[in-house]
Amino acid sequence: MIANKKKSRLRRKVKKFKKVSLTALLGGFVTISVLMTLTIMVITSYTTQKQSLINNTLSVNYASAVQMSQTLNSLFESMRKSLKYGAAHFKNVDFNDKEKLNTTLDLIHNSSDYFNAVVLADQMGLVLSRSPYSQASIGTHVSSEAAKAAIKSKASYISDAYVTPRTNRRIVFLSEPIVDPMGKYKGMISGSIYLQENNILDLSFGSQLKTDNGTYFFIVDHKGTLLFHPNVSRIGRDIRANTVVQKLIKNQTGQEQYTNLDGVNTLAGYYKVPATNWGVVVVSPTQIVYDQLNRQIGLLLLYIAVPFILLTLIVLRVARKLVHPFVFLADLVQQVDKGQVELPVVKPHWNREADLLTRAVLGAMTSFRNKTDQLVYDARTDVLTGLNNRRTFEEVIQAWTHDENPFAIIVLDIDRFKLINDTYGHSTGDEVLKQIAKLIQMSVRPEDVCFRFGGEEFVVLLRDYDSKKAYEIAERIRISVEESVLAVDRTVTISAGIAEFPMHSRSETELFHLADNALYLAKEEGRNRTVIIQTVEKAK
Ligand code: GH3
Ligand code: MG
Ligand code: MG
Repeated sequence: MIANKKKSRLRRKVKKFKKVSLTALLGGFVTISVLMTLTIMVITSYTTQKQSLINNTLSVNYASAVQMSQTLNSLFESMRKSLKYGAAHFKNVDFNDKEKLNTTLDLIHNSSDYFNAVVLADQMGLVLSRSPYSQASIGTHVSSEAAKAAIKSKASYISDAYVTPRTNRRIVFLSEPIVDPMGKYKGMISGSIYLQENNILDLSFGSQLKTDNGTYFFIVDHKGTLLFHPNVSRIGRDIRANTVVQKLIKNQTGQEQYTNLDGVNTLAGYYKVPATNWGVVVVSPTQIVYDQLNRQIGLLLLYIAVPFILLTLIVLRVARKLVHPFVFLADLVQQVDKGQVELPVVKPHWNREADLLTRAVLGAMTSFRNKTDQLVYDARTDVLTGLNNRRTFEEVIQAWTHDENPFAIIVLDIDRFKLINDTYGHSTGDEVLKQIAKLIQMSVRPEDVCFRFGGEEFVVLLRDYDSKKAYEIAERIRISVEESVLAVDRTVTISAGIAEFPMHSRSETELFHLADNALYLAKEEGRNRTVIIQTVEKAK
C-alpha cells in the first residue's frame, strides 16, 4: 500500500516537469549562443571603438581650433591694418574740419564689416567723430577705463571685454595711435566689436558656431572672459574656472576630455590666437561619441539580425527533420500496439543516429511482430495436423453465427480408431490423423474452415452451404478416406454428422450438438456414413 502511494506521488511529480521538445532545445541553444556571441561582439566593439572615437573627436576638434585661431589671427591682422590705414590717413587731416573727419571715418567704417563702430578721439580723449554718427557722443570725453588706457598708451591697443558706461554695451575694441608728421601724438582711431550683437565674429564664424552633432566653439580673452559663444547670454562671463581656459591662460594649447562648468563631460581642442592673445575652444559633448557608438552598434545588430534569423530558421527546420523519426517511431509503436498497421519500409535517414534508431526499432518491432504472429499461430493451430484447433473453432463459429450468414457444420469421427492405435501403435495413429486431416482440407473450398476438434474428431464449417450441399462434401471426404491408402494396411473409415445454420438452430452450441448427435446416429447405424440432423428428426 505504502509503496503504491509512493509510486503515485512520484508519478504526479514526474508529470509536473514540462517536457522540452528537441526543436525548442536546439532553437534555444542557437539563440543563446548567438546572443552570447553578440554580447561579446558588442562589448569588444564598444570598448575599442569608444576610445578610437574619443581620440578621433579630440583630434578633429583640435584641428578645428587651430584652423579657427589662424583665421581669427589673420582677420585681426586685417582689422588692425585697416585701423592703421585710417590712422595714417588722419595724420595730415585737420581735426577741426568736422565734415572731413565724419566722411573719412564713415569711409573707413563702411569699407569693411570689421567693426560695429569706429571712433576718432584726440590726444585728450575727446571724441571728434564716430561712425555710425552719434551726436550724443561727439564732443564728450571717452569714459571707459579701457579707452582712457588706450589714449594713455599712445600705442596699438586691444582692450579687454568690458561694458561701456554710457551705452551699456559689452564690447572689445582695437585702437591705433594717430601721430602727426612731426611725430606728435594727435589721438587715436578705435574700432569696436559689439560682442552681444551681430559682429564680424558672427559673420566669419557664425555658420560654424554649432553643428548638428552638438559640437560648438567659443572664444575667450587672455583673462578667461567669454567673448564669443553660441549662447549669447553667456558672453562676458568669467570662465577662468574652466580647465581648458586655465590652460589657455597659461598659453598652453592641446586637446582634452574634461567636465565643463555645466557638469557636462566634453571633448575639447583649444588653441591661442597670437594677434589678440585670445583662445579658441572647439567642444563636443562626449555624449556624441556614445550616440555614434549606439548608432553603430544598432546597425551592427541590424546587419546581424538577418543572418541570425536565417540561421534560427535553418536550425529549426533541421531540428524538425531530426525529430521526425522519433515522432514517427512513437506514432508507429502506438499504432502497432493497437494492432493497426503493417510495419513500413522506411527510407534511410540522413542523420546517422536517427537512422540507427529507426532501423533498430523497426528491426525489433519486425522480430517482435514475427514472434507474436508465431505465438498467435501456435495458439490457434493444432500441432499434429496443422488444422485450426478447438479454441479457433469456437471463435469462428461464434463469429459466423453472429454474422447471420447461412452455413453448414460437419462433425467427423474416425471409426474404430482405438483399434488402429492398438494395432499399429500411437505414432502410426498420428500419421493416419495427419493423412485424414489433409484429405479433409483438400475436399473443401478455400472459404470453408477445417478444425481438429480433439482426439480423432474433426469439424468443417462450410460457408453459404445448406445441409444438402454439406452432405455432398461430407460424402466426398468419407469416400476419399475410405478409398485412400493410408499409413495402415487396412481400410480406414469415418462417420459424419451434419447440421445447418440457421435452419436447425441459431445457437452455435446447440448447432454443434445437433451435428454431434447426427454423428452419433451415423455410428449407431453402422459407421462409415453421413447423417443429416433433419433425417434424424424425421426418423423420430
Ligand atoms: P468409434 O468408432 O466409436 O469412434 O471408436 P473409436 O475407437 O474410434 O472411439 P474411442 O473414443 O473409443 O477411441 C478413440 C481413440 O482415439 C482413443 C485414443 O487412444 C485415440 N486418440 C485420441 N487422440 C489421439 C492422438 O492424438 N493420437 C493417437 N494416435 N490416438 C489418439
Ligand atoms: Mg471419438
Ligand atoms: Mg472414433
